[in-house]
Amino acid sequence: MVGWKTDIDPNNFPKPALDPRVSLVMVSDLHEQWESVQIPRGDVLVVAGDITYKGSLTKVSQFNDWLARLKDEGVIKHAVVIAGNHDLTAQTESKYFRKRLKEAVYLNNQEEIVMGLKFFGSPWTPWFYDWAFNARRGKNINEHWELIPDDTDVLVTHGPPYGAGDLLVDGRRAGCVDLRNHVLHRVKPKVHVCGHLHHGYGIHMLGTTVVVNASTCTEQYEPTNLPIALTV
Ligand code: MN
Ligand code: MN
Repeated sequence: MVGWKTDIDPNNFPKPALDPRVSLVMVSDLHEQWESVQIPRGDVLVVAGDITYKGSLTKVSQFNDWLARLKDEGVIKHAVVIAGNHDLTAQTESKYFRKRLKEAVYLNNQEEIVMGLKFFGSPWTPWFYDWAFNARRGKNINEHWELIPDDTDVLVTHGPPYGAGDLLVDGRRAGCVDLRNHVLHRVKPKVHVCGHLHHGYGIHMLGTTVVVNASTCTEQYEPTNLPIALTV
């Protein structure tokens, strides 16, 4: 006799409950090198700015093609994208920049619900040699952070908050103090995705918020830091 006799009807197993959570895959600061990055399977790909070096619209179109391919191949379902200080045309030719990102939920100081989660995205960073979306620290940049809704689940900003994911090579911290105050004391999102300060790559905590500095590129602009994935 081969095999075991059993009372269990193999066609009538209880189905496992569907996991209602959403898996996020996070990258940032791709600086035109997305083809070198292996994206793991997930629900929402979050890209926290600095897609390009200087805002080439041709490169933005190629980035959009890459997003389309990831969707076609079933790697991701959605892409939430913001610009960074290197994406100059996102500020100077915002209409055309946005138009080329047809595959993305593009957030420019805006919120959007994706798979039941409220995302808010902003490209603004503290002033740094006059690149795109630079605002003076203090009152000036705080006006942007006041736009973040209280009930944001996933906050996406190009720059990190002060004290989490903001270490420079020389040991100083360069994150935004005002952003920190909003994240820590008011918004308390589940996840705060950022980039910009490449050396701060990694997973950090700020109160109850998981701060992910997802910088794909290193200080030397090599795209060797792994994408970071979390389920929320
Ligand atoms: Mn960068
Ligand atoms: Mn940057």
